[in-house]
Amino acid sequence: MEAKKVDHRRLSQVISQMKKDPEGSMGIYVVGGWRVQISRYKQTSAERVRALYSRRRDQGLCIACGKKVTKTNPANGRLYRLCEDHRKNIDYKKAGKPAKRRK
Ligand SMILES: [Zn+2]
Repeated sequence: MEAKKVDHRRLSQVISQMKKDPEGSMGIYVVGGWRVQISRYKQTSAERVRALYSRRRDQGLCIACGKKVTKTNPANGRLYRLCEDHRKNIDYKKAGKPAKRRK
């Protein structure tokens, strides 16, 4: 996670934002040489990965690299989970294997 340099005023805004949008206020903030980290308490790495996945999915970004996904899946009208590059690399490889439903 990239640290963001902020002033005290900005940090207060981030703290108030936590109430309604804790996910969006997550981050590492540097205030005059001090570090403030807002992250989920006792989150396992699996939960962190899942949170990142759903955040990217909600914003229509590639779940592998975070690039904007532009193509929609004609089968369900939703954006693909992956950008074109990763779709070629990951999804196409799976096509040969027997279908296994992803949760
Ligand atoms: Zn990608």
